[in-house]
Amino acid sequence: MTSAYDQLRALSREAAVLNSARAVLAWDQETFMPAGGAELRADQAAALATIAHARATDPRIAGLLDECEAHAPHAADPHAPDARNLREMRRDYERAMRLPAALVAELAKVGSQAQQAWKDARERADFHAFQPWLERMLELTRRKAECWGAPQGGELYDALLEEYEPGARAEQIHALFTPLATRLSALVASLLDNGTRPDDAPVRVEIHAERQHAFGMRILEAIGFDLHAGRLDVTTHPFCEGIGPGDTRLTTRYRESRWTDALFGTLHEGGHGLYEQGLPKRERFGEPLGEAISLGIHESQSRMWENFVGRSAEFWRWAAPIAEQTLGLRGCSAEQIFRAVNTVDRSFIRVEADEATYNLHVLLRFELERALVRGDLHAADLPHAWNTRFEQLLGVRPPDDRRGCLQDVHWSFGLIGYFPTYTLGNLAAAQLWETIHTHVPGLAESIANGRFAPLLEWLRHNIHAHGRRFRAGELIERLTGQPLSPDPLLRYLTAKLAPVYNMG
Ligand code: ZN
Repeated sequence: MTSAYDQLRALSREAAVLNSARAVLAWDQETFMPAGGAELRADQAAALATIAHARATDPRIAGLLDECEAHAPHAADPHAPDARNLREMRRDYERAMRLPAALVAELAKVGSQAQQAWKDARERADFHAFQPWLERMLELTRRKAECWGAPQGGELYDALLEEYEPGARAEQIHALFTPLATRLSALVASLLDNGTRPDDAPVRVEIHAERQHAFGMRILEAIGFDLHAGRLDVTTHPFCEGIGPGDTRLTTRYRESRWTDALFGTLHEGGHGLYEQGLPKRERFGEPLGEAISLGIHESQSRMWENFVGRSAEFWRWAAPIAEQTLGLRGCSAEQIFRAVNTVDRSFIRVEADEATYNLHVLLRFELERALVRGDLHAADLPHAWNTRFEQLLGVRPPDDRRGCLQDVHWSFGLIGYFPTYTLGNLAAAQLWETIHTHVPGLAESIANGRFAPLLEWLRHNIHAHGRRFRAGELIERLTGQPLSPDPLLRYLTAKLAPVYNMG
């Protein structure tokens, strides 16, 4: 007879196998599927989603969870991995059960229509065409949040946040982000108003996509991404899909007039991919212990490889000769490339933003979506609120809504509570980075020599191997000795960018 716990684990795995099939289909849709396959693909995805949801809400689970919680030997130590596994299984089950199937279906259907409406509206910079869809999605998203319920002492927005960043609260994020934004705005202003802009000629050299691909593959291999258990393909919107044990898919896109787009995209998705490959999926596929902690921690991994490694002077000491060989980038020193990839600009578009301004874009979205959920801001007033706040934060005003509140896809399909995870990831990356430097002696030299294993091993051992054993805040405090703070990121950006802008 198998124990209740083993039965729970087996059910989790069954749902995960179904979801992984859905992930392969989603990956294929974004990479190789012919346009004509779209209708069938939507049916396939919906059919698998329904079956997977039925597994995740299987009526047997409630009894099995009760039995484990009452009798399991690991209940004695609530911090033990299996106790945490069980706690997270309970959490996931309760959340899944609270959403009525009809609401889930309506969200999916209206979300896909709203996404289409958003695409058209963005194209024409016509917010009014999108406004009714945004209102509809906000209403549905609020209903979803009400089903989950605001946590004790929290607000409705927290229920949404909980989906992407378990344990995070809007009030704490506000307390972290507000001083960060003030100091970042000041840093950006001082760099751009008083510094000397570095020459970005090295990144504007035209380079063929094939050469860029070869370079990206070389870099992925060097940082430790296992290409026998993963792939790199081309898509419009780069992503990483951790399909399951032994299969992690990355995508990127090549812009011949700016080779760094693909490189940093590949490093970013590669960072997500290293996390996926480092999770104990062989033993724990589908269980919380085999899954990533949160979007914020996931993003801390991608940002660390993209920015802390990939935009460092050490990295380019190693990579510049390879870029010369593989990309044919002639006459650019490591120092010149390092400066070129660290220019700061007041851009309107988040996904094109540099490290210094990026978090200002995120803060804006967090403030606005929180106000929308609270009802303090009406959809009709969004463009004005966006432009006004953007100007306060970045010193320039978006000329139209395409470069303003219509630029991101997220809100159109109900991803509300998602944006703050980008900045939480940057903050976590910076704080972990300081700790890693104290734990891994000679890290800078090893990066300059193209040896990334010491860094990856640290991440594997301290973060990846644990799955969801710890909540994000708990993990950061355990590893760094401090709660998440804006200071490490500000220290890191100032230390790197002031010399790039010849400011001491
Ligand atoms: Zn990412």
